[in-house]
Amino acid sequence: MTSPSSLHINLDAIAHNWLSLRARHTGETAAVVKANAYGLGAASVAPKLFAAGCRNFFTAHLSEAIAIRPLIGNANLMVLHGILPDEAELCTAHNITPVLSSLPGIALWQAHAKRLGKPLPAFLQADTGMSRLGLSPAETATLLNDRTRLDGITITYVMTHLMNAEIAEAPSNEVQFSRILEFQSHFPGAKLSLANSSGLFLDPKFASDLARPGAALYGINPTPGRPNPLKPVVTLHGKIIAIREIEPGTQVGYNGIWTAQRPSRIATVAVGYADGYFRCLGNQSFGYFDDHPAPLVGRVSMDLTTFDITGIENINLGDSLELIGKYCTPDDLALAANTNGYEILTALGQRYQRHYTGAVSNA
Ligand SMILES: *Cc1c(COP(=O)(O)O)cnc(C)c1O
Repeated sequence: MTSPSSLHINLDAIAHNWLSLRARHTGETAAVVKANAYGLGAASVAPKLFAAGCRNFFTAHLSEAIAIRPLIGNANLMVLHGILPDEAELCTAHNITPVLSSLPGIALWQAHAKRLGKPLPAFLQADTGMSRLGLSPAETATLLNDRTRLDGITITYVMTHLMNAEIAEAPSNEVQFSRILEFQSHFPGAKLSLANSSGLFLDPKFASDLARPGAALYGINPTPGRPNPLKPVVTLHGKIIAIREIEPGTQVGYNGIWTAQRPSRIATVAVGYADGYFRCLGNQSFGYFDDHPAPLVGRVSMDLTTFDITGIENINLGDSLELIGKYCTPDDLALAANTNGYEILTALGQRYQRHYTGAVSNA
């Protein structure tokens, strides 16, 4: 099931990006590799980052963590979603640390520690404003009134997640910072894990003891509106499988949302919304042949998209247009699709031929 279109993932750039984020602060820098490393392939990304020196990894689900455990030596591996009933045993069997975000989660982990007869490490997440995961103020009060709920659990880190880190002037950043410091004060000995990618570009205090960047590793700009300080990682080449000449007045694609105004040359490319090239990009983006822009014309269909290549010389059947890369970054495509670069990356299709540069053999 491979498409003739190809996705190139530069692992050297990912390692470079991790090292440059690490250099921004004196604390440690983890790597968030959830959702298959934001769609780019955790099995390739995790060993590369381990080789670059990363010793702390986060996934969303336990199954994602179990999958990369053999690839990252004895690095610390955390599950952001914590544990559900019956998952505690799997965590310890694979040397995985849960991020505990609720009283029931704490109880499960404590019961497991008791069964094993030894203390177990955990991260403890507080909700400081997102109302998504993390102990609520009421749960925190309950916990602090009954510290025995933590017997057998060693809280290595307290953490929280910033809701507006990419908006430097958002008042919520300082509010969340003061709330997590207050929370941390109740857990002497626990370090702080705060910043995501964009958090590393706020006041240095947000970096904390353990930053958790994800998106920036994969080339997403953590400072929207300012130049991207990271290297690009992803290039998508769409294969031209047909070229036609059309007369003025001719419509292109479903529903004819684009009509040629002049004699035009149309390239049909083997990429569509089934590959994560969103349908809402119809008439909204560009492909590039070298540095020549070819406007996307008409609707994006499931497996095909049409581009106006009128006037571009030396372009032939079997050539490719660059749909994501130097001239149209994931962030640019996101802007055209009214979403963010995260969704562009995590939607990248499974049919593309995937090529990696800079791969390392597994740890
Ligand atoms: C996804 C996630 C991150 C990484 O965020 P980026 O914006 O991709 O850097 C960090 N922490 C938590 C809790 C997350 O869910």
